[in-house]
Amino acid sequence: MFNEAPCQTLMVKGLNAQSTEESVRQSLGKFGAISSIKVLPVAAGKTTAAAFISFTTLEEAMWIAENINGMTLPGEAGPLEIVYAPPRDPMKGGKGKGGKFDATGPYSMTGSLHKTKMCSFFQSQGFCAKGDVCGFAHGAHELNGRALSC
Ligand SMILES: [Zn+2]
Repeated sequence: MFNEAPCQTLMVKGLNAQSTEESVRQSLGKFGAISSIKVLPVAAGKTTAAAFISFTTLEEAMWIAENINGMTLPGEAGPLEIVYAPPRDPMKGGKGKGGKFDATGPYSMTGSLHKTKMCSFFQSQGFCAKGDVCGFAHGAHELNGRALSC
């Protein structure tokens, strides 16, 4: 499922089944500047369409998600369901929620990936020449707590 971290791309469900990029742009383009639209094919048995809509700024996307979610716009089938649809990039998972670790932890200079993954060299070879300075974990006990909390 999509997570709820705000991002510039929204998934809008509950659109008119005949929706096109143009009709979506007319419906929602007046609330914010749209950079791209991808209308998904209407699934068999469904009476509404869904679309991915990217806005030019995060602020616009957040405004739409807060104010248009649940509204029925003229020409649409029913109340729109709007959720954030971040790009599927596992490397960014949890980013934003972990700020407190970055701000005060000893790993603040090395970024959010420090000790959040097992060292592949250590796993395959049984040792790692970098030792303690390696940015990856040499065993479950070294894994950054953040990886467990997500
Ligand atoms: Zn290592």
